[in-house]
Amino acid sequence: MDALTYQELLDITSKYDAQLLAVSKTYEQEKIMPIYNDGQRIFGENKVQEILRKKETLPEDIAWHLIGHLQSNKTKKIVGQVAMIQSVDSLKLLKVIQKESEKRDIKSHCLLQIHIAEEDTKTGLDEKQLDQITSEFLDNKFPNIELHGFMGMATFTEDKEKVRKEFKMLRGLYERYCSPIPSFDTLSMGMSGDYKIALDEGSTMIRVGSLIFGDRKY
Ligand SMILES: *Cc1c(COP(=O)(O)O)cnc(C)c1O
Repeated sequence: MDALTYQELLDITSKYDAQLLAVSKTYEQEKIMPIYNDGQRIFGENKVQEILRKKETLPEDIAWHLIGHLQSNKTKKIVGQVAMIQSVDSLKLLKVIQKESEKRDIKSHCLLQIHIAEEDTKTGLDEKQLDQITSEFLDNKFPNIELHGFMGMATFTEDKEKVRKEFKMLRGLYERYCSPIPSFDTLSMGMSGDYKIALDEGSTMIRVGSLIFGDRKY
């Protein structure tokens, strides 16, 4: 992967009027703070425990986004703790988020994760499940949820045209739902390997980790 500084990536992203989510999973304070000091305020993590742990020592004005699969039984720990849950991948999960948000009398800001990749391993809603969730949402079943849009992950492949097709599909779906759901303002697609294609295809938020922070050590 070509080396790119944080500032260069930020410049490209803002040229497209998009937002940059810095994916800090597996990276610690010494990697995160320099980017924070450059002005970055939105960070993404894929694990509930890791967000809660990092929140204890990192600055309070960071807006944390959960981007990894959320198990229903961990929902009560995370509701109220993050700026956005991007990985809502079932009706059941949305119901649990609603219940926990109602208890706390807050609104939870969410994206629906849509399955666009070929691999079965990547979770997300198919169109039928999406229809069901959005129609319940439009029936006011989720008064404590604010739906902001979609998140998607393309197939991991060298085939750029395939990736482009998947992003284009998601952009089309997003546009279809923008008028029935006026709170829609976010289409989260594009990672280190495919963010340029995603921006070209109308992403409003790219989620970039290794390109900013360097190779990940698990
Ligand atoms: C890890 C992760 C990213 C960022 O991946 P990089 O390849 O490091 O940019 C983006 N989105 C999700 C959902 C992730 O889990």
